[in-house]
Amino acid sequence: MTRTSEVERSESSGGLAGLFTPERVAVIGATESEGSIGRAITENLRADFAGETVPVNPNYDDVLGLECYPDVADVPGELDLAVVVVPPKIAVEAVRQCGEAGVRNVVVITAGFGETGSEGATRERELAEVAEKYDLNVVGPNSLGVMSTPSGMNATFGPENALPGSISFMSQSGAFITAVLDWANDEGIGFKDVVSLGNKAVLDETDFVEAWGDDPDTDVILGYLEGVEDGGEFIDAARRVTDDTPIVMVKSGRTEAGAQAVSSHTGTLAGSEQAYEAGLEQAGVLRVENVQELFDFAQILSGQPLPDSDDVAIVTNAGGPGVMTTDAVGDSNLSLASFSEETLSALSESMPEEANIYNPIDAIGDADIDRFEEALDIALADENVGCAVVLSAPTAVIDFDDLARVITDLQAEHGKPVASVLMGGERTASAKKILREGGIPNYFDPARAVRSLDSLSRYREISEREYEDPRTFDVDRERAREILERAEERGDNRLGVEAMGLLDAYGIPTPEGTVAETPEDAVSAAQDIEDDVVMKIVSPDILHKSDIGGVKVGVSPEDVYDAFEDLVTRARNYQPDATILGVQVQEMVDLDSGTETIIGMNRDPQFGPLLLFGLGGIFVEILEDTETRVAPVSEREATEMVEGIRSAPLLRGARGRDPADREAVVESLQRLSQLVTDFPAILELDVNPLVAGPDGVQAVDVRLTVDTDNL
Ligand code: ADP
Ligand code: MG
Repeated sequence: MTRTSEVERSESSGGLAGLFTPERVAVIGATESEGSIGRAITENLRADFAGETVPVNPNYDDVLGLECYPDVADVPGELDLAVVVVPPKIAVEAVRQCGEAGVRNVVVITAGFGETGSEGATRERELAEVAEKYDLNVVGPNSLGVMSTPSGMNATFGPENALPGSISFMSQSGAFITAVLDWANDEGIGFKDVVSLGNKAVLDETDFVEAWGDDPDTDVILGYLEGVEDGGEFIDAARRVTDDTPIVMVKSGRTEAGAQAVSSHTGTLAGSEQAYEAGLEQAGVLRVENVQELFDFAQILSGQPLPDSDDVAIVTNAGGPGVMTTDAVGDSNLSLASFSEETLSALSESMPEEANIYNPIDAIGDADIDRFEEALDIALADENVGCAVVLSAPTAVIDFDDLARVITDLQAEHGKPVASVLMGGERTASAKKILREGGIPNYFDPARAVRSLDSLSRYREISEREYEDPRTFDVDRERAREILERAEERGDNRLGVEAMGLLDAYGIPTPEGTVAETPEDAVSAAQDIEDDVVMKIVSPDILHKSDIGGVKVGVSPEDVYDAFEDLVTRARNYQPDATILGVQVQEMVDLDSGTETIIGMNRDPQFGPLLLFGLGGIFVEILEDTETRVAPVSEREATEMVEGIRSAPLLRGARGRDPADREAVVESLQRLSQLVTDFPAILELDVNPLVAGPDGVQAVDVRLTVDTDNL
């Protein structure tokens, strides 16, 4: 996988500021014609934009009262941004003219590119070439446009402008943006920048993650993605940014991964969904399942500080909702705080006898505002408390506006994150507004409040992560290349145990073994091993050797000759024209004290090499108990993979067996990670089994698919 260096990246995205803070914006294809996109954009820009809007269209002298120019070249003075709304046939030419005229940022609204078939795909390539030639930042094509609230710029054709805020939002769906804005404006949720990514011919999610990571006015980055252009690059960028800016994403839609990946057992297990799951997690992205969580997390991350601990205090005037909240805490990574002695005595002094002073604090139904305030103040002051949920059902003695003010004041005073659950309909409206101004979200459902607080704690963990570089082992890369090239010479892209040398070259232990071409050779190979042996048919046409009886374990020296002939006969019976390279004669590995595991790799079109670890042998398909990570993996990530499978206790030595040598398994994963990173031509590879015993590991079988054109 190629991971672009920081320097190269920052050069290519260096001018993104001009995209969001332009002073003069040209609308190429501006028109007055009713119901047209060219008119909608001109109107939207004219409405609130602090800068100047310049229509360009040879058919008008002025558009909506603004002076119009026939050509971008005719516009006097500098233009920072051009929005292109002309028909597809002339859109690329329009962008080229922008490049000629020195406009660095272009938003291509025009559709009819890659999304429409081969003519469109050609047009999209031409667009990318023009962008490259003139070093342009191009958003789109097929984009709804961009917005930036500090300058009031709405360069979209959507019906609504965003409210100001500190969330920057990118979406691969323009329609989703219009829907979100309609809703967010009602909810009072504001944005810093909004980008409709369109077809991502030039600028993609990685560019915006980097740009917003550097933007002091963006507190949270939100994304709705259908795919990631370059997973490796995205991971690198996101890791840098999430140090201080959280990224929350919802990813929908399936990719072509399945079609591209060559299918085999590991291939189907390590599909593209797993690549996203692993890749986004490794990138430090908070991945959410639905739109509600996307905005719940965004709001609390932009409004509240991170908690020092995961211990929640619950303060309520209603028993039932308090219990619901407690359950939700149980389902989360948070835990219920246990109060200090001082807290308990302070509470027992100030609360009525019937109140519950243990967490959740139930100030009971007749609690007035003073009692609520006291309870929350005491709870937030406790050093065992990291964050709090405040719940209230409507009662005759509580005014929600007063309570909202108490909550915002105490939150600000104690500096600990708070989520509020003022339960009700209309009567919560003005209280919600007070809370929102204090950066505190309010929910009807206590479980949402808990999940939102949980996202703060998840992000705290992400922001504190130290990413280690992958280890680099001293390996014999040339020998590995020769083995792969030999496959190319044979004209075969599937390799089996004849390629065991590949593992050896990368320092993954393998038992002694040779591929014998004749029964005589097999006998002498067995003599060298001086013990019973394992014999396996070697044929690119036979992927699963034992399925056809192609593996014989524990063959004594005198049976080797006959075993050779028998294995060849079985292969011929299975497939008369099978290419048979010979029979492997291999040293026996002790399976009684070892556990069969699998290490494998499947190359994802977006994220690149996806490593897999699990229990091997026949278990791999039945249990589906595997861990995946995008390679290259660090030592820590490799360790997490080994520890992360459900059956990890088996490796730690269950039922009186000695524990497996975990370090050796972890090291093999890292070495395999290096192999597949060094050779992008390896499309897919599994070592199954890698026998993990108390004194190390042995790889006894390997299978791989190679893209021989790419060596
Ligand atoms: P395939 O996966 O193509 O059927 P393998 O080489 O993985 O072929 O062999 C199948 C099974 O035979 C392994 O899962 C393992 O249980 C056993 N086996 C293979 N090689 C050895 C060996 N050298 N020592 C002990 N058992 C082996
Ligand atoms: Mg096998």
